[in-house]
Amino acid sequence: MASIFTKIITGEIPSYKVAEDDQFIAFLDINPNARGHTLCVPKQETNKIFDMQPQQYLELMRFSRRVALAIEKTVPCKRIGMSVIGLEVPHVHVHLIPLNDMKEMTFQHKVKQHENDFISLAKEIANNLE
Ligand code: AMP
Repeated sequence: MASIFTKIITGEIPSYKVAEDDQFIAFLDINPNARGHTLCVPKQETNKIFDMQPQQYLELMRFSRRVALAIEKTVPCKRIGMSVIGLEVPHVHVHLIPLNDMKEMTFQHKVKQHENDFISLAKEIANNLE
């Protein structure tokens, strides 16, 4: 069965998209640890990150770096944290999280964000992509 992220990639379910190329997509996490929390996802569905082909893994890192720099330009923060988990959604994704405090990397601390803010933030990040 297709993962929820494959359904986002195919447009079956909506997302707040910030970047896309032929191999990858990035969209805002729907339950963010911090404002600007973004997921970078390969279009080819693989469960575990270290099962990816080495070249595709490196390309995912390159794509994630580009998105991280755009988030950092958009959201005031000390730095962008990166995490890979996948216990909830078994489709590789890199979490990019604007950090001001260690608690934002714990996945216990969540922030409420309104629909309008998700929409405008996704556009702002997309506009800051190099
Ligand atoms: P994990 O698999 O543990 O790395 O966590 C999956 C992440 O995906 C969580 O942070 C969820 O909030 C996020 N997530 C789940 N469904 C969606 C969705 N439809 N759109 C955006 N983010 C999602």
